[in-house]
Amino acid sequence: MKKILPLLCLALLFGSTAFAGLILNGELSQGGFLRGQVPVGTQVFFQEKHLRLTAEGQFIIGFGRDAATQQTLVLIGADGQRRIKPLHLRQRQYKIQRIDGIRSNMMAPNATDRQRIAVEAQLVAAARQRDSKLPFFYQPFAWPLKGRISGVYGSQRILNGEPRRPHYGLDIAAPTGTPVLSPAAGRVSLSHEGMFFSGKTLIIDHGHGLSSSFLHLSEILVKEGESVKKGQPIARVGATGRVTGPHLDWRINWFDQRLDPQLLVKARQ
Ligand SMILES: [Zn+2]
Repeated sequence: MKKILPLLCLALLFGSTAFAGLILNGELSQGGFLRGQVPVGTQVFFQEKHLRLTAEGQFIIGFGRDAATQQTLVLIGADGQRRIKPLHLRQRQYKIQRIDGIRSNMMAPNATDRQRIAVEAQLVAAARQRDSKLPFFYQPFAWPLKGRISGVYGSQRILNGEPRRPHYGLDIAAPTGTPVLSPAAGRVSLSHEGMFFSGKTLIIDHGHGLSSSFLHLSEILVKEGESVKKGQPIARVGATGRVTGPHLDWRINWFDQRLDPQLLVKARQ
C-alpha cells in the first residue's frame, strides 16, 4: 500500500494538468492555425469564444498576423473540470514589399469611392464571420493553382513610396483565364462582380469560421449558396481591382483573423 500511494498522487496530479484525449495539429505561429479534437462532451474556449465542435469533437482556431505569442485554450470536460492549455506561438518576421506605378485614384480614393469601399468591406466581413457547421475545415487543403509566388502573407507594403497596410494574401502569378480550383470543399458565401480593391471576388466557407477568399478574378464559375468540391474549378484568374498584372490573391481567414495560406497547404493531416 505504501508504494501505491505516491503513484496515485502522481496520477491525480497529472489528471488535473494533462489533457486526456486532446489532439492538436498545425502551426503554432503567427498566421498559423491549430486543428484539434477533444473527447465528446468537452467544451472548448479560445479568446472568450465558445468554439463550435463537430459531432466527433473536432475544432479549429487561428492566429492573426500579429497575434500575441502567449495564448491559452480552455477546456471544460464532461465532468465539469476546467483545464488550461497554454499555447506559445512562434513570432514571425515579415518581408517588406515595394510596389510602384499604382494609379492615383487607387492610392487616394475620393468620398464616393470610400463609401463604396466601406459597403464592400461590410459584405466581406459578414461572409467571413459565418460560423457554419460545414466540416471541411478539418480536411487537407490543396493549391488552387500552380504558379510563381509573387507576394507572400504578412509582407509590409510600400505603395508608390508610402507605407500601407500589410498584405494578407498569397499572390500566385498566372495568365488571365487560368482556372482556380477550390482548395477544399465548402459553400460559396460571397460572389461579387466587382469590388473597388479586389475586383471580382469569391469567398468559400469551409466551416467553423475557416474561409478562403479569391481576389482579382476575371470570371466566377459558381453562385452564392452553391456547394463546391475540393479541386472543382470555381473561377478564373484575372487582373480586376487594384493590381499591376494578372494573378490570384488567395486569402484564408478564421473569422476576422487572417491566416497564412502557405501554412494551411503544407499542413499534414
Ligand atoms: Zn495580393
